[in-house]
Amino acid sequence: MTDLLDEKVIERDFFARPVEEQGDFLAQTWCNHCMEVDLGMTNPKEFESEDRVWIEGDCVKCGNSTVTEIVEDDEE
Ligand SMILES: [Zn+2]
Repeated sequence: MTDLLDEKVIERDFFARPVEEQGDFLAQTWCNHCMEVDLGMTNPKEFESEDRVWIEGDCVKCGNSTVTEIVEDDEE
């Protein structure tokens, strides 16, 4: 992402997630280019900023970048 101005972005390790979770995130996508859900993504990369977490990857169908926002429960 290049349009994040002053937001501090940290790259996380997507593959540190449980395998089932990885599978869900890779399957449950929204592609702005295809305008379709659940086409799937490849080359996932996970990022976090101060107030959100998201995964960026390539749409399986068209190859364009697709982003999935993650809602996390902050319970420790
Ligand atoms: Zn697509």
